[in-house]
Amino acid sequence: MSPDEFRRHGHAVVDWIADYWSSLDQRAVLPAGPPGAVAARLPPRPPERGEGFDRILADLDSVIAPGLTHWQHPGYFGYFPANTSGPSVLGDLVSAGLGVQGMLWATGPACTEVETVMLDWLAELLDLPARFRSTGSGGGVIQDSASSATLVAVLVALHRTGGGRWREHGVERRHRIYTSTQGHSSIEKAARIAGLGDDAVRAVEVDPDTLAMEPAALRAAIEADRAAGLVPTAVVATIGTTSTTAVDPLPAIGEICREYGVWLHVDAAYAGSAAICPELRYTHAGLEYADSYCFDPHKWLLTGFDCDAFWVADRAELIEALSILPEYLRNAATESGAVIDYRDWQVPLGRRFRSLKLWFVLRWYGAEGLRAHVRAGVALADRFAGWVRADERFEVVAPHPFSLVCFRLRTRAGAGDSRAPSSTDANANGTDADANGTGAELDRANAELLDRVNGTGRVYLTHTRVGGRHTLRLAVGSPYTREEHVAEAWRLITDAATASQVGRS
Ligand SMILES: *Cc1c(COP(=O)(O)O)cnc(C)c1O
Repeated sequence: MSPDEFRRHGHAVVDWIADYWSSLDQRAVLPAGPPGAVAARLPPRPPERGEGFDRILADLDSVIAPGLTHWQHPGYFGYFPANTSGPSVLGDLVSAGLGVQGMLWATGPACTEVETVMLDWLAELLDLPARFRSTGSGGGVIQDSASSATLVAVLVALHRTGGGRWREHGVERRHRIYTSTQGHSSIEKAARIAGLGDDAVRAVEVDPDTLAMEPAALRAAIEADRAAGLVPTAVVATIGTTSTTAVDPLPAIGEICREYGVWLHVDAAYAGSAAICPELRYTHAGLEYADSYCFDPHKWLLTGFDCDAFWVADRAELIEALSILPEYLRNAATESGAVIDYRDWQVPLGRRFRSLKLWFVLRWYGAEGLRAHVRAGVALADRFAGWVRADERFEVVAPHPFSLVCFRLRTRAGAGDSRAPSSTDANANGTDADANGTGAELDRANAELLDRVNGTGRVYLTHTRVGGRHTLRLAVGSPYTREEHVAEAWRLITDAATASQVGRS
């Protein structure tokens, strides 16, 4: 493809994306086909001869788009958002066009230096502790995902608590990692990859109302392990758990980590973006105790996947843990010690110029624009929670400091129940489910409600379990989502509740 052909087809592709974004509202959020439907429409063999670009674009419309979940759809409320934006896509396009591989400073200095500065900019925007900045002892790096950030944190923690033996002799089976029962699955995965296995991960109890880690339970687990000759190695605390966005109490957890010399990694994959708003920064109190911290601009900060921002308070320790310098990578800049080689900050050697999309996003929106995006999501979630609370058939089952609301039907028969709404979140324990039918029946009613609502094609919500009970999640985050879309979701939910009640009586 010559540069001129690229120019022509490139314009057509940008048009295609712009048309896609402007027509999202007219599409069903979820794909219709059964498993294999997309694969069945692809030829079994690659073409022998090259094809015209128009044919490729046409198949985007007829084969690919119908087989997708539309994550940018204004009615998309599933999991957490994975939003993107014009400046992010264009920054990524430039990165792809440059084709730079930034494993070393020397293999593309701007690729490294822009990343360092962007992570300092983000640290400034989130008001992170000074020790995470590259101007101090720490620094930031872009990982592909929060999962990789957790893995890297675990590896450095092993290096630290292993007294240097880990690098030469590998992992000892005595290391233990702590997270709450609500911690993300990537923590167990990191333990497996690190060679520790699932047994090394201790699930610490949470407060039944807030679903945040119980510091006393953490202390007890650490003490018990020490008494058994095991080595408490890392605590992974969460700001905004995946299930309900619970916030672990960092000040108390941080004190315990300091007392026992345990690495503290803070996983704020989704909720970290909230810290750009001063009024939401209270969720990050105690972060000064952390040895490492990460959040995903690719979830809620208008930056397309993949972009996890990861910081350490002591970069020397990280580099010591992961650096290996073969002859073919030796160069004067590295030897001088004056540059950052990001290959030492991650698992792979090679890396893309991912900071370019971040640079485009931060400059296009400015801090103000990004704050407005986060605030809009929080306000819409608040409004939705208000509607849920005002309808006695439903209950909000967990605090909702960000843009996720966890809720469910309180009674199997929906509107037929005249019981006054409960004033507390005690229902999160599922203890009173039996007053209105068995817990299993309620679970079934909630699952059916979710299926009905998602079956309309207008919105998409996902579920979790809270206090052992099937719970619906509505997460706001698409830049296209406005109040009318959240209101439509609520109308579809209440319609479905009414229909299921009519169907039963
Ligand atoms: C989404 C999420 C992750 C995993 O994110 P990736 O970037 O996809 O690896 C980890 N932790 C929490 C709390 C999350 O919400």
